[in-house]
Amino acid sequence: MSYFENFMKANQAYVDLHGTAHLPIKPKTKVAIVTCMDSRLHVAQALGLALGDAHILRNAGGRVTEDMIRSLVISQQQLGTREIVVLHHTDCGAQTFKNEDFTAYLHKELGVDVSNQDFLPFTDVEESVREDMALLRQSPLIPADVEISGAVYDVDTGRMTVVEE
Ligand SMILES: [Zn+2]
Repeated sequence: MSYFENFMKANQAYVDLHGTAHLPIKPKTKVAIVTCMDSRLHVAQALGLALGDAHILRNAGGRVTEDMIRSLVISQQQLGTREIVVLHHTDCGAQTFKNEDFTAYLHKELGVDVSNQDFLPFTDVEESVREDMALLRQSPLIPADVEISGAVYDVDTGRMTVVEE
């Protein structure tokens, strides 16, 4: 039995809480947040966001990848966001491995050669935020006047600390 059945049950209660309300498709705050998939980071609660407020774009590490840029371009050019927040966090899974060890492991476990792939691990979380802010600044797909901020979220306290560019 998968966990999915629990989700379906929980959703019945959520529907009552949600009620019927059609919010605009364009996020109210005009902000897109680039962050990690980590299960201890409840982005909406931590940032005081309600339904319809912001785009929350997540991947492993909260890294600025080609697909993250794809989502940001749609977020900005189709759905009106004008500000980006890069939010990484302490004790990240992307800090637990090195590319060469991980690709060797994957070769052994799955029999695939991904030795050319960068899984974007990092050691210094503030540095990874700065790197990703710089990638956004450099991208021709992100307009120069877009506000870009960075922060680190502490998974033990819930506190966000600003990272200067
Ligand atoms: Zn993470």
